[in-house]
Amino acid sequence: MASTRRRRAGRPAARKGKKHVHSFAPGQAEGGAGDRDLLGGKGANLAEMCRLGLPVPPGFTLSTEVCAHYYANGRRYPAGLEREVEEALTRLERALGKRFGDPANPLLVSVRSGARVSMPGMMDTVLNLGLNDQTVAGLAQRSGNPRFAWDAYRRFVQMYGDVVLGIEGEAEDDFDPFARALEELKRRRGVSGDTQLGAEDLQELVATFKGIVARHAGREFPSDPREQLWGAIGAVFGSWENDRAVAYRQMNGIPSAWGTAVSVVAMVFGNLGPRSGTGVAFTRDPATGEKRFYGEFLMNAQGEDVVAGIRTPEPIARLAEVEPKAWRELQRIQKTLERHFRDMQDLEFTIEDGKLWMLQCRTGKRTGFAAVRIATDLVRERRITREEALLRVDPEALNQLLQPIFAPADVRRARAEGRLLTKGLNAGPGAASGEIVFSAERALERAARARVILVRIETSPEDIRGMQAAAGILTARGGMTSHAALVARQMGRVCVAGAGELAIDYRKRTLAVNGRTLREGEPLSLDGSSGEVFAGELATEPSEVLSVLFGGGQGVKGPVWRAYSELLRWADAARTLGVRANADQADQAETALAFGAEGIGLCRTEHMFFEGSKIDAVREMILADTTEERARALARLLPLQRADFTALFRAMGPFPVTIRTLDPPLHEFLPHEEHEISFLARDMGVSFERLKAKVESLAELNPMLGHRGCRLGITFPEITRTQARALFEAACEVARATGKAPRPEVMIPLVATPRELALQAAEVRAVAAQVFAEQGREVPYLVGTMIELPRAALVAGELAREAEFFSFGTNDLTQTTYGISRDDGAKFIPLYIAHEIFAADPFARLDREGTGRLMRIACEEGRAARAGLKLGICGEHGGDPSSIEFCQALGLDYVSCSPYRVPIARLAAAQAALRAKAALSAPRPRARRR
Ligand code: ADP
Ligand code: MG
Ligand code: MG
Repeated sequence: MASTRRRRAGRPAARKGKKHVHSFAPGQAEGGAGDRDLLGGKGANLAEMCRLGLPVPPGFTLSTEVCAHYYANGRRYPAGLEREVEEALTRLERALGKRFGDPANPLLVSVRSGARVSMPGMMDTVLNLGLNDQTVAGLAQRSGNPRFAWDAYRRFVQMYGDVVLGIEGEAEDDFDPFARALEELKRRRGVSGDTQLGAEDLQELVATFKGIVARHAGREFPSDPREQLWGAIGAVFGSWENDRAVAYRQMNGIPSAWGTAVSVVAMVFGNLGPRSGTGVAFTRDPATGEKRFYGEFLMNAQGEDVVAGIRTPEPIARLAEVEPKAWRELQRIQKTLERHFRDMQDLEFTIEDGKLWMLQCRTGKRTGFAAVRIATDLVRERRITREEALLRVDPEALNQLLQPIFAPADVRRARAEGRLLTKGLNAGPGAASGEIVFSAERALERAARARVILVRIETSPEDIRGMQAAAGILTARGGMTSHAALVARQMGRVCVAGAGELAIDYRKRTLAVNGRTLREGEPLSLDGSSGEVFAGELATEPSEVLSVLFGGGQGVKGPVWRAYSELLRWADAARTLGVRANADQADQAETALAFGAEGIGLCRTEHMFFEGSKIDAVREMILADTTEERARALARLLPLQRADFTALFRAMGPFPVTIRTLDPPLHEFLPHEEHEISFLARDMGVSFERLKAKVESLAELNPMLGHRGCRLGITFPEITRTQARALFEAACEVARATGKAPRPEVMIPLVATPRELALQAAEVRAVAAQVFAEQGREVPYLVGTMIELPRAALVAGELAREAEFFSFGTNDLTQTTYGISRDDGAKFIPLYIAHEIFAADPFARLDREGTGRLMRIACEEGRAARAGLKLGICGEHGGDPSSIEFCQALGLDYVSCSPYRVPIARLAAAQAALRAKAALSAPRPRARRR
């Protein structure tokens, strides 16, 4: 590692506030890897490689401050910049013994973009700058290779025309005119590759290219190298605001104030002949994380030829035969760089006449698989600590390890065949293929024989069994926390939500999208990780981790499993937050346990009601006109619900299980369409009119704020009593059968006032006492409340006198704090994010200032009123890493999320604990850079 002494001595801008240009050359550099904010990632690492004494062509970097100044001052550069650039250029000329614009021995440079964080392919670069009709002759003579000189020149005119002069393909054929002219010439010469074109051909091409410039740009190609240089610098700074870059920044939350740096680097040439070439490499495999040098190269080529697919590049290992000396050097350097940066590196290099030059290195982007594997391998190799490994893996990346995947070759084929139909929100990661169905009933029916994809405009709780039966769920409406997305994630179902281009016709049973119409029964494939929807089947394969977790000992414990299980073991040791799952059924509970859950944080009892014949009893109860009728229906429901709880308690053993009493408005349990009502009326033996009247009487203008939550339990206390009886009887039964008492925690929803809670808690406790007396045994239990209304948070001190625990229902708490219905917010929340009104979707990432402030009040006042009050969160935020970090700061006891997010929450909780510890041991305010 570079010594801090050396680094301090060379730190740019530390001494002189106004320095804007920072030079680098092998063995010396102004700045280094620590100066990314100022020099951009590329500039900082070029400097760092120079400090390490690696072969890097010399150059200089115009700092990001220049960019900021440029945009803040009507696209003008800071005073003195021109002089600084001239000085740096002179230094470069001296170092290389060449002069910029010298017809006899010209210095050529590249002008490269580089932001603080890499934005691959978003901004622009110009190569071979400094060529004109005079210098090309000097280059030809000096190199003794006219073909090369003209090749460099034609590339330069093309790139400059594209990047600086903005010449692109015409709208109708979108094929860039330079590429077309090159193709045309190759056709005339009867050759297939551009390396087969000779010096005269290329000279002719330069003339053609200049003609294209004159035609498209309405001006001659600039021949003055200094004009070229400033044109390119301006274009690279300008590319910070191009559409691609702006969109990328928005998607990745990169502030536009950061700006890009511009690095001007002396050219080295990979297109000098057969002993020259260019390549890209990774110090480890970026897809799998395997420790093997990985990459590609192309001889007699320049710049992006490798990635552009003009010729097929060769695997990096072949370089050992082609240029053994450069290969050995590259081997040495890749090891040095990985050791130095202590992480997998992505390298760009060029070989000029057998000599290796390094042009870029950066921390390599990688899949979730590679992230986990590399982090754990580096610990084993003693390069990093366990804590560093835990902090390096993005918790969301674990998703990839859990989901079955489409075979990548099949995806490529489907795209090539034009089977990509549309793209929606990647709401439930994974891959699913199956036949299209348009209703939950049909899904259930068909699922016995085939894999089905449930396609709905949107889903509702009634669809839950259909969703369970489906392999994947596709909706036209709804956001990341829509019902479909939430339930799909909890079930581990693949889900693409809010695919707005879909036109779904339930009557005709068709789905129209982008000029194609698909019918029920036709095959469809959903990639829930990318949001892509394909026509037809795609082959899937189960992930290694899933095959071990659920393969009943049959799974293969390969390197992915080893890395995953090791990392999560470390995470469990590091975290202080508990992690529970939201689960309603025994099988979901088992899934949650396999993923490492330590309890259930939310069992939504109403979800149990849709199973089997329970819905009949529920509907009878709803239809009841008298308390006696209702009691009769509830008596039917009791054993069914008890069986559910028994299964759940058995599955969860000694872990706590939080059971929420009935929450949704009763309307949701009844059908709404006339024909459905008439079917049900016949089934139930009641008149159509009576059922329809009931449905109408239960309809509400705003069900979200209507007769639901504890308001139901207050109106119909017998419902709460029945649920309590079912759960305490189940608890006693399991205690008797297994000898171990389960740990139920009864949770009252949508409480706003202490009196509501007191009334419901009294019902629960009375039933508990009764059941324990009947059964002759006691099971320890808690009664608590959800905090999901602002008022509840504000009177938390009062509530805590009654409640033994709080669980933050942050879905409703966010809805009611903002006054935004989460099912309708999808219409404008994306716009709000684009306008930076919201930093993120408050339903996905907890809003710390508003919703979070209410939570803080509730925590503080709740704990002040009752020492040891148990605190948890069960909203969707319980599985979101940023929200988990906030929960750690609040001092919650646990987070609860959908089963498939449990591993993510375990890792996020570990990171939150480690960061909190680091903040404690370094109490200084963070130093401000720049
Ligand atoms: P990007 O940020 O898109 O990767 P770069 O600035 O890295 O753009 O440039 C793209 C490619 O151009 C590099 O990978 C390298 O192959 C080539 N290149 C850039 N500068 C030089 C140079 N000074 N000499 C030779 N090739 C260069
Ligand atoms: Mg690059
Ligand atoms: Mg709620």
